[in-house]
Formats: sequence, C-alpha cells, structure tokens
Amino acid sequence: MPYYEFACTACGSFDRFHRMAEVPDTVACPGCTGAARRRMTAGALLHTGSTATRLLDATAGTADRPAVVSAPPGGGRVRTTRNPLHAKLPRP
Ligand SMILES: [Zn+2]
Repeated sequence: MPYYEFACTACGSFDRFHRMAEVPDTVACPGCTGAARRRMTAGALLHTGSTATRLLDATAGTADRPAVVSAPPGGGRVRTTRNPLHAKLPRP
C-alpha cells in the first residue's frame, strides 16, 4: 500500500497511506481538519517487502475481505497434549 503526499494551504504537506485504487483527491488535514489536496507525485512504494508493510496490507485486507474458512486451522482436531494418560480422560 503506497503513501501519497497531500498539501494543506494552511499547514503544509503530509503523507497518507492509501490503496492505489482508492486514493482520494482530498483528505482532511490532521492539523486544521480542512481539505488537503493530493499533490501530483508518484505513490511511494517503499518498504513493500517488509514485515510491517505485509502486516498493514493484511490488516487492511481483512477489514473488507475477511477470510472464510471451512475448517479450523490444522485440519480438524488439534492435539493439545502428548501425554498418553490424557487420552484416557472422559471426552464431552
Ligand atoms: Zn491544515
């Protein structure tokens, strides 16, 4: 997810992260809450391979596209213990 530069006439410029398909022309300025226009710059794609960027993208992706699974992770029943005596305990 690249960041784009926006400029407020009163406060100056600042950067915001947006998806390429959803970048707006104006955003609210964090200083004065006025309208800040996007500056004509290329979206910066720095640190695209970093763990932090992948986490941000994954978190943003789950907001509108939650993962749907048909089984719990691990393929079903998950062993929580290796003690053979625990297998003799009553099961619900
Ligand atoms: Zn401002």
